[in-house]
Amino acid sequence: MKKHNFSAGPCILPQEVLNESSQAIINFNNDNLSLIEISHRSTPFIKVIEEAKELVRELLKVPQEYSILFLQGGASLEFLMAPYNLLSINGKCGYINTGTWSKKAIKEAKMIGNTLVIADSSDKNHTYIPKNIEINEELDFVHYTSNNTIYGTQFKEYPKTNSILVCDMSSDIFSKRIDVSKFGLIYAGAQKNMGPAGTTLVIVKNSILGNTGREIPTMLDYNTHIKKESMFNTPPVFPIYVSMLTLRWLKNKGGVDYIEKTNNHKAQTLYDEIDRNPLFYGIVNKDDRSNMNVTFTLNNKDLESVFDSLCNKKGLNGIKGHRSVGGYRASLYNALPLESVEVLVKTMQDLEKNNK
Ligand SMILES: *Cc1c(COP(=O)(O)O)cnc(C)c1O
Repeated sequence: MKKHNFSAGPCILPQEVLNESSQAIINFNNDNLSLIEISHRSTPFIKVIEEAKELVRELLKVPQEYSILFLQGGASLEFLMAPYNLLSINGKCGYINTGTWSKKAIKEAKMIGNTLVIADSSDKNHTYIPKNIEINEELDFVHYTSNNTIYGTQFKEYPKTNSILVCDMSSDIFSKRIDVSKFGLIYAGAQKNMGPAGTTLVIVKNSILGNTGREIPTMLDYNTHIKKESMFNTPPVFPIYVSMLTLRWLKNKGGVDYIEKTNNHKAQTLYDEIDRNPLFYGIVNKDDRSNMNVTFTLNNKDLESVFDSLCNKKGLNGIKGHRSVGGYRASLYNALPLESVEVLVKTMQDLEKNNK
């Protein structure tokens, strides 16, 4: 049966990318060698990582004074690396707490130095995005999470600050246009919109590095990876390759402009049904709804098992809400077709018809 994959991450990738990458495992470039058994310093692989970098630069219009890195350790290691590289010994940094991932970032920053939480949505269980944040301090940087994968909220505007802006874009990078020049540092684990788990994309403005007065362990120092072009040690060759293919796919589709329009349309289609269908309601503040992770719940919890089995029958996969939120979460990442959203909407309508 065809599956509709709404998984929150790792998540759906384009079918043609899966086909091509599985072929590369067996026989890459018709050289009778596998991609994962050749040297990362061989010409075929250097071509892959170079193309991946070029695609990131082109798709996100990354200015020349920014470096593009493919690292390991996930977004979770960036929680530590960002403050390590940007927080000066006597300085302070500011974090916007909009949920689980922000909280984890704050925990790591506190290990490095003086960390202020400058806005916090925990008073309403992270169902909204704090706005008009007042910053009265000199801060080395301000950190936020652009899309809250678990709660289903998303920033629609960049927080206003004169400090260096740092952003965890793990779950909405490449889903819409961004202005990279507004940021000092952007990072994202690959496994939502870019590829499989195993590599982390880092986009960093070169001039903000090396100013902390801190000694940074080699592997945690962005300058190490900039100097060695993400080849200080063996890079995760397969995740980088699959990411490259996914970015190629995105470019061929029409790039970020195109995908932003389809993503808006997919999200609108589902939110319209949530708002129309009397059996369901959306969990978060309407203005702050995420286009990537749509959270919703049933008014009558007794219908949950009925809805779950309807979804099962239709091949709808991965819509159970995060254990900390409950209800449902449909993740609508780039590779998810509109058709899958339409099947979900139809299933919600079927539930309504059956329970009149
Ligand atoms: C998934 C996710 C993470 C965790 O990424 P890892 O690569 O697993 O460390 C961090 N932040 C956000 C916003 C996420 O969605």
